[in-house]
Amino acid sequence: MWGPLLDLVMPRQCAACSLPGLVLCTGCRIDVRAQPVIAVDATVSAVSDPMGRGRAVVRGYKVGGHRSLAPVIAESLARAIRQSLHPQRGSTRVAIVAVPQRRRAHAARGFDSTAVIARQAARLLTLHGLECDVVQGVQYVRQPDDQRGLGVADRYLNVAGSMRLTGKASGRVCSEQFGMVVAVDDVVTTGATLAELRRSLVAGGALCVGAAAAFSTPRIAHPGSTSPG
Ligand SMILES: [Zn+2]
Repeated sequence: MWGPLLDLVMPRQCAACSLPGLVLCTGCRIDVRAQPVIAVDATVSAVSDPMGRGRAVVRGYKVGGHRSLAPVIAESLARAIRQSLHPQRGSTRVAIVAVPQRRRAHAARGFDSTAVIARQAARLLTLHGLECDVVQGVQYVRQPDDQRGLGVADRYLNVAGSMRLTGKASGRVCSEQFGMVVAVDDVVTTGATLAELRRSLVAGGALCVGAAAAFSTPRIAHPGSTSPG
């Protein structure tokens, strides 16, 4: 509750370029909106973020507490979700499942930042004619370590087998009312977290699972590594 209040009373600067004034300056807002949705790999769609402005907006929202940045992230996520769609089961209704928040992050922020973005993206898509629902119900069976600072292989190992679709949520995402399930996150780096979320959904019985993130971290080729970064 303090984020929006602080935005009103504190001197502000752009979360992406530090220009004094708005929480997100007009130039950065236009730049984020102008970036295309790309296929990060065969399964994940995300808005390209070559200058890191999108990721800076996510940081400002999650770490800086600027809740007013949520709609900018949600708009990017909605674009990425739309591109990830390939409904195969008659219904065009989409179930959106967000990466669950780690206990420590929830304690630090006091709200589920990714769930908020997912709900706002779902509302935007519904306004534009795509029927969709946010389904909650993926939980951690163990708390993975923070992914930051880990290499590609370690990121996959860190989250492998960490999530589980609850029985109640499984009944929903597997129901005939949905033509597709989309796993979502705010930022995709290596794709390890979204891959684990997809795995938990498929293991729980979901068919036709895609994945989308609001922004993608550009892949960096590491010396001696042939894996994407
Ligand atoms: Zn700016």
